[in-house]
Amino acid sequence: MKTPIPDYLETLLDSVREDTSGEVADYIPELAAADPDPLGMALCTMSGRIYGAGDDRRMFSIQSVSKPFVYALALQQRGWDKVQETVSAEPSGEAFHELSLESGTNRPMNPMINAGAIAVNQLINGEDSSVDDRVEVIREFFCELAGRELQINRQLCYSELEDAERNLSIAHMLRNYKVIQDEAHDAVLSYTLQCATEINARDLAVMSATLAGGGIQPVTGKRILNPDVCRMALAVMASAGMYDAAGRWMTTVGIPAKSGVSGGLIGSLPGQLGIATFSPRLDAQGNSVRGVGIFQKLSADMGLHLMAADPYGDSALRNIHTEGDATVIRLQGKVNFSAAENILNEMETEDFGGRRIVLDIERVSSFNKVGRRMIKEALRRYREQGHDVAIYDPENILTDLVYSDGTEAETLDSLKEHSLEEKD
Ligand code: GLN
Repeated sequence: MKTPIPDYLETLLDSVREDTSGEVADYIPELAAADPDPLGMALCTMSGRIYGAGDDRRMFSIQSVSKPFVYALALQQRGWDKVQETVSAEPSGEAFHELSLESGTNRPMNPMINAGAIAVNQLINGEDSSVDDRVEVIREFFCELAGRELQINRQLCYSELEDAERNLSIAHMLRNYKVIQDEAHDAVLSYTLQCATEINARDLAVMSATLAGGGIQPVTGKRILNPDVCRMALAVMASAGMYDAAGRWMTTVGIPAKSGVSGGLIGSLPGQLGIATFSPRLDAQGNSVRGVGIFQKLSADMGLHLMAADPYGDSALRNIHTEGDATVIRLQGKVNFSAAENILNEMETEDFGGRRIVLDIERVSSFNKVGRRMIKEALRRYREQGHDVAIYDPENILTDLVYSDGTEAETLDSLKEHSLEEKD
């Protein structure tokens, strides 16, 4: 059985493919000339499994998607008090390049807008660091997060610097209020190099899964950030990651997120998933049009809204046990997207031979919509491959036994008659 998740991701991409509304960013010459059509996405689970679709390996510059990561690095290197002195953590509800500071303190409102990100960049590697050293520390940090070597596209950075009056004004303003010490030009150069790091959607999915998982890179297993630092970065993403669309985003999608002007968009669902999309055309707020569409659909279909408070269920697979001519798969607890993903992955690695497959869900307390759909789809696929498949569901937890092709799942009245009773 091939897990249905990659097929689902293709369907998601198809659902937004025809939408060519929005414009690519035109204030950076290299981005203005970029192909507007690529469309890709990737998911990374807490176990480090990556699912990708479309142009998920296509490289692009990270731009503002770098901001939460560098914020987390600043928190890790300098601590909360120092970072708070430099940048506030309040949503600004303003555009990403707004020339504004918090009244009273003269700090940038948050690290997700350019003013905050330029200030945060200056905290890395200490105030006395050269631009080159600082940028190299950030690049190496991104490599650790992605689990592979990444490069900075200097040509893209210089193209952005040709007309960077706005970011330069922000840097002058920050310097005026002694929020930063570097010359405005150096501060903008350092920040713009950070933004010019090249990544793809798969890298971003793994990087955001690292934030979602409390700082352990799920593929390499290495601890890169402390859990409290990740929690703070996610909190600021939730309130300010989508700029002046942050409130709407939180109500409709409900996943801490960050967008970038080259068309990247990440979502970090605490304890569950890292998600990334790539599509360059942007809406009026500077967020990827098709990326936003994918996230809206994904969140609704998969029940991923943070405020839906669906308890995590990553240990919903109790055991897989062979008995006579049948393999019994026993589930337990709550089956949501993460739980079902885990179960499907375990089933995929199992060799059922010619045996009957029995799914015992007596101990499942509940399925959410997507959990039910994914488990049924897996059974349908096994049946299509010629397996004899049955469900043991004495409490009628599954509620509806109809597969996606309209046929019904076979049920067992008792495990006894098949001598399939649990042995432990
Ligand atoms: N480098 C870009 C800028 O500062 C990043 C902005 C963004 O991605 N929203 O303008």
